[in-house]
Amino acid sequence: MFNRLFDTLSPFRSMRARFSLAMGVTGIVFGILLTSLIEWRIESVLRQSAQDTLNSLAANIVTTLTDDLANRQKEISLVADLIGVSGLAPQEMVRSVIDGLKQRQSSYAWIGMTTPQGMVSESSEGLIQGTDISSRPWFNGALKGPYLGDPHEAKLLAQYMAPDANGDPLRFVDVAVPVHDKDKHFKGVLAAHLYWNWVQEVVTSALSLRAIGTPIEVLIATKDEDWLIRPGTKSSPSVLLPANHVSEGEYLQVKQTMQPKSGYLDLGWTVIVREDIRYAFAPIYESRSFMLGATALIAIIFALGTWVISGILVKPIWLLAQEAKRHSHLSGMSPVETLNTKHDEAEILGQVMSRLTNYDLLTGLTNRRQLANRLNQLIAKQARYKGNSEILLIDVDDFGLLNNTKGREVGDQVLIAIARRLQQMFPQSYELSRIDSDEYVLLIESLSQVPLEAEQAAAREAEKILTCFKVPFSTPLGTYSCQASIGLTMIGETPLEVEDALLFAEVAMREAKRMGKSKYMIFNSHMRDALTAQVLFKEELSAAIPSQLLVYYQPQVEKTGFVIGAELLVRWKHPVQGLIPPGQFIPFAEQSGLIDPIGQWVLESACRQIKLWENDPVKSALTLAVNVSANEFNGPDYVDNIQKILIKTGANPKRLKLELTESVLCVDVDIVVKMMLKLKALGISFSLDDFGTGFSSLSYLQQMPIDQLKIDQSFVHNFTTKTHDDSIVKSIIALGTSLGLDVIAEGVENKEQESCLEQLGCTLFQGYLFGKPMPLEDFERFVQA
Ligand code: C2E
Ligand code: MG
Ligand code: MG
Repeated sequence: MFNRLFDTLSPFRSMRARFSLAMGVTGIVFGILLTSLIEWRIESVLRQSAQDTLNSLAANIVTTLTDDLANRQKEISLVADLIGVSGLAPQEMVRSVIDGLKQRQSSYAWIGMTTPQGMVSESSEGLIQGTDISSRPWFNGALKGPYLGDPHEAKLLAQYMAPDANGDPLRFVDVAVPVHDKDKHFKGVLAAHLYWNWVQEVVTSALSLRAIGTPIEVLIATKDEDWLIRPGTKSSPSVLLPANHVSEGEYLQVKQTMQPKSGYLDLGWTVIVREDIRYAFAPIYESRSFMLGATALIAIIFALGTWVISGILVKPIWLLAQEAKRHSHLSGMSPVETLNTKHDEAEILGQVMSRLTNYDLLTGLTNRRQLANRLNQLIAKQARYKGNSEILLIDVDDFGLLNNTKGREVGDQVLIAIARRLQQMFPQSYELSRIDSDEYVLLIESLSQVPLEAEQAAAREAEKILTCFKVPFSTPLGTYSCQASIGLTMIGETPLEVEDALLFAEVAMREAKRMGKSKYMIFNSHMRDALTAQVLFKEELSAAIPSQLLVYYQPQVEKTGFVIGAELLVRWKHPVQGLIPPGQFIPFAEQSGLIDPIGQWVLESACRQIKLWENDPVKSALTLAVNVSANEFNGPDYVDNIQKILIKTGANPKRLKLELTESVLCVDVDIVVKMMLKLKALGISFSLDDFGTGFSSLSYLQQMPIDQLKIDQSFVHNFTTKTHDDSIVKSIIALGTSLGLDVIAEGVENKEQESCLEQLGCTLFQGYLFGKPMPLEDFERFVQA
């Protein structure tokens, strides 16, 4: 149900929409790839340039700090030398040097001189003077040489100094050098405490030099992994990532370690400069939003472009699909119910193809091909599992007559009505197919495991069908009656070919027709034997054409006894059975298709004879009549074949007469008339054989270019005994006369028949009275006599 709803709603199921969607998606993929490529390129350029900037900033800070510290250390060393070399100048002088130095350099928080024992002997502004500092690292460090110390909290001095502006505890960096007199005697330590915010100032001034003010963070860590300038986020120096690595997309950063000038203590400070990548890569984000906008636009343009172009390219397919949909309404029963709600042309055309190959378009039933598939499956299945299925072949009796008398439209409607009625009568599990114009097959699966029961059940179904045919069929063009003959055959465990199964049913059906129509017959062993005999017979007959064929000539005479021609009657000179009359092999030849080569050979014999008699004063005027079966006449290329034979033999077509029976009218009368007109134009004449036994109506007779009516011998034989036949012959002669046709009577055996016919106006005769069918030589002698 949802599928159906989706099908109805979604226009994206059409080929055109699918193309457009595909191109739209291609546009998006293309746009995303292009964006990624551009971003990758911009990123590498930006990363390099940001890296360079950060590196130079870090280098700047490191250099400034190193230089500054070196300068301070130099200053202190100089003052220490001055104090030491000057032979320990008076206290006032030391004090004034210290104060002077402090005032000149604002980074000094405190400068002081100690005694060799570690007592502060002199200090700037006299702070902590007299205090014992011998335990301080800077004092002990300086005992060994120049000392630089990591920042530390100013515990002693803090009480004398103004607190830090941020409220943080005061921190100092210590610079200390030993003081020696001229004789290199140790006289104490000169030390200076540098304000920690001196480092901050260096950083701030370095950052302020940058042209663009993107937020950059500078961090400094000691070699003991203690933060000197700590990051805003909670992280420890040890977890800081290596330089140039962006941590989880957060920062782009560089590291540099301070390298002290030679001779001084290595502080090992690390300066880390980092920039938030959101700022560093801001151009990428800008380009990304632009590119994504462009991508959407490209996708829309691709999709719209494809919509327009495919509208032109796919149009023929679309039109074909629409046409297919339209036609789905036309056939009687639609096996493809949902076709109308489909949008996908490929699906529609696929279904139509399957329908064309597997279904009968007129009735909507499965066709012969599909039935063959089902039968194949069924035969294979039944070879494995026990069960008996039945094939019922239903052939409409005299459907050709209905078609010809009422018209094809009516014929089609009757076929649809029959299909509908049969479908309504049987459950859907019974496969109903139409396999030929008026042939239906009902396949009933697994009727019973017992063959006899299956056969009886199938026979009951056949009876039901025959009964249902007794009720006339209502169609939009009127109500029509017709009957059917049914052939039944069983598919059991024994495997057999599909074609054989259908042939058995057909043989049984033909037997039903032979027994008088409107009956059903079950295929039995007699039919199987007959079929086998037929196969052998067919082999024998086809081998006999033309070497064992003979033509006999039966004279046709005027009432004066003058011979006007002969009818050619074929015989089979069987090597064992002797001369076989045509009645015993022509009907079989008609069924099996062997009538074509037989007819061709007889026709060629007639034409050759006409040509041989061409210059004979008597025989050149004779007309030879050749019998033509309906199947032969209605076969392909019949007219062409006659033309070829006439050309090949050089016979005069005016001496050739074709004897047709009314059964040629079973197919399309218009086609038959057209063919006759073509042959007539060549000079060939036509006789309507066995007239009176068929179904010719006056209207057809008027249409057909016939020259002669041949009264069937059955009327002639009963002539004298049945007055009824007398009147038939009378009206045939009257009909022929009124239509301007010759009338010939066949089967005239005695004088009585002849004189009666003569009295009724018949002028031409054929029969044993005048001459039996005879070999050519006899006929030639007969003519001469
Ligand atoms: P048909 O065309 O009606 O031929 C007349 C049949 O009546 C012939 O039988 C002929 O021997 C027989 N016949 C003629 N006069 C008399 C008579 O006075 N009394 C009796 N009792 N019979 C008479 P035949 O030769 O056995 O042919 C039977 C049918 O076979 C023919 O009937 C025709 O329909 C068919 N046939 C014969 N030759 C050919 C042929 O070459 N091609 C085709 N398609 N059919 C042929
Ligand atoms: Mg004939
Ligand atoms: Mg006849």
